[in-house]
Amino acid sequence: MKAIRVSAHGGPEVLKLEEIAKPSPSAGQVLVKVHAAGVNPVDTYIRSGAYTAMNLPYTPGFDAAGVVESVGQNVTRFKPGNMVYTSSTISGSYAEFALCAESSVHPFPSNITFPQAAGLGIPYATAYRALFQKAMARAGETVLVHGASGGVGTAAVQWARAAGLIVIGTTGTEEGRKLALLNGASFVLNHRAENYMDEVMRITDKRGVDVILEMLANVNLARDLSMLAKYGRVVVIGNRGKIEINPRDAMGRDATILGMTLFNAPPADLQSVHAAIYAGLDNGTLRPVVGKEFPLSEAAQAHTAVMESGAYGKIVLVP
Ligand code: NAP
Repeated sequence: MKAIRVSAHGGPEVLKLEEIAKPSPSAGQVLVKVHAAGVNPVDTYIRSGAYTAMNLPYTPGFDAAGVVESVGQNVTRFKPGNMVYTSSTISGSYAEFALCAESSVHPFPSNITFPQAAGLGIPYATAYRALFQKAMARAGETVLVHGASGGVGTAAVQWARAAGLIVIGTTGTEEGRKLALLNGASFVLNHRAENYMDEVMRITDKRGVDVILEMLANVNLARDLSMLAKYGRVVVIGNRGKIEINPRDAMGRDATILGMTLFNAPPADLQSVHAAIYAGLDNGTLRPVVGKEFPLSEAAQAHTAVMESGAYGKIVLVP
């Protein structure tokens, strides 16, 4: 089968299309024929060696959607032909086939496409966990979704709107602004504008927001604390460096800073997340947005694109 392989950590150019043996499922495993693979920023951190060193060579990627090709012994939830997505694979998702543990494979309803389903695993699960399992967001609260144009932000806006929150999104482009509005944000601000914090305070009648989902904490966390309402919560989802904060901004509001990494979520929480994803797709409140599709052979271009500004939903690879 064709797969993208990384033989040395480095820039996007280390992603090479190669022919490797097709895996076969052992007991408790599912082999998925990949129709689309989701490209996440974490894939680039791992490729570069900055995040965690992998045993080389390896096939990158966590997210994929496709059709069950075959199953190992003791697999009870799936059979060949089922349409599924995954957020974690054993063999890597940037390939024609991906080997997965049965527990990390999930069904999706037929009202979305494979490229859309390839954007479910990490983005929708992260957004749900941040909003509902970390920040404990409730209907009627106001949430600021930083980076509302990206994979996680798009999902977060849809989840929050469906749950009855008032959504303020931030984006860096006009296309991103339109996308956030389309997804259900009531207000969209530019995170590169000098005065967007003043706008947040004006929109909330100087009260501040109850919840902030933060995609770039090293740039925004200090400002976030000053935009929070009393008992407000910031969930740090994305961070690419260090930042100085004034802890008094948190003290005065009884505010909470919550860090999260989806990979730390316990199995029971993940089961709940994926049940919510199925329900949200089925009732039409979740509508994954695919901004760009690249052929598998152009994985390097996809890795460059996912780290550039001007996000528009998901970037996916099509084998
Ligand atoms: P993405 O699709 O590439 O989107 C990135 C988003 O960040 C875009 O909406 C972008 O907006 C926005 N952004 C750029 N500059 C910003 C700024 N100064 N302030 C606020 N937002 C800004 O990435 P993603 O998949 O949504 O992931 C977002 C972040 O979360 C990444 O850092 C990723 O590594 C992290 N993440 C963490 C977890 C976890 O488990 N903790 C899981 C998933 C993702 P414009 O392009 O419109 O400027």
